[in-house]
Amino acid sequence: MKKKACEEVGIASFGFDYPVTVTEDEILAKIQELNSDDKVHGILVQLPLPEHINENNIIETVHPSKDVDGLHPKNTAALCSTGTHVGAEQIDWNDLASVPFHIPCTPQGCIELLDRSNVELKGKNAVVIGRSNLVGLPVAMLLMHRDATVTIVHSKTTDAPGVVSKADVVIAAVGRAEMVKKEWIKEGAAVVDVGINSVDDPSAKRGYRLVGDVDYAAVKEVAGKITPVPGGVGPMTIAMLLRNTVNSCFRSQASKGE
Ligand code: NAP
Repeated sequence: MKKKACEEVGIASFGFDYPVTVTEDEILAKIQELNSDDKVHGILVQLPLPEHINENNIIETVHPSKDVDGLHPKNTAALCSTGTHVGAEQIDWNDLASVPFHIPCTPQGCIELLDRSNVELKGKNAVVIGRSNLVGLPVAMLLMHRDATVTIVHSKTTDAPGVVSKADVVIAAVGRAEMVKKEWIKEGAAVVDVGINSVDDPSAKRGYRLVGDVDYAAVKEVAGKITPVPGGVGPMTIAMLLRNTVNSCFRSQASKGE
């Protein structure tokens, strides 16, 4: 889907598929080759990697300026900086497309969805369920930058339903099918469902269907706004990947004075 989306907007996309026996050195060499290729503006390593590969080594080898997944520690550090500047550059958290480093795609897509649905974040209680580097943590940082009061729920939280029930905005990024129930949700809350889980369904052609982390049919009755699965956050994630890549290209051209 990522390749198809690139084609649709005119980004040349090419991939390198390796067998599961690939060595770490082979992948590192390919990344270094792409890092020094002027025509390449975005590098994405499709995770997860086989167990014998050190994921951190791989992520840290992608040049931060080409890290369109936003996972390099330099990009994470910039996102977690509480100032309105990173280096000499000013950050406008209200316009994520203008931010001068790469923000992970799924979290960026969540904020974009909330903005385009006119959901107020300033001063609101936001609860993020999940604390992964990929989704939970960065989306919590983005909500904080947008002046929400943020609480993160994780597997050791003692009263997740109680915490979530105080939220004006809920982001569910857990990976547990339909875990978030109607009783957890405050009337009128905005609910963004990041989860993608397959559940057995003998009536479906493939024998399974995809559901989110939220019990959509029931929660829809109380939520003010809610994203569906499939079709909500997923397509936005891809759109943000394209945005990061185009931004990377513009920044690269600008740095050469073009
Ligand atoms: P992950 O790395 O497995 O993290 C899951 C998080 O949920 C962890 O922080 C974990 O807490 C927490 N958690 C697990 N069980 C919990 C429970 N019972 N109560 C509260 N918290 C609990 O997953 P991820 O990569 O963040 O992805 C989350 C979901 O989003 C998955 O379904 C994934 O497929 C989906 N996803 C979708 C997109 C998209 O484009 N739509 C993109 C990325 C991910 P601990 O830290 O305490 O273990």
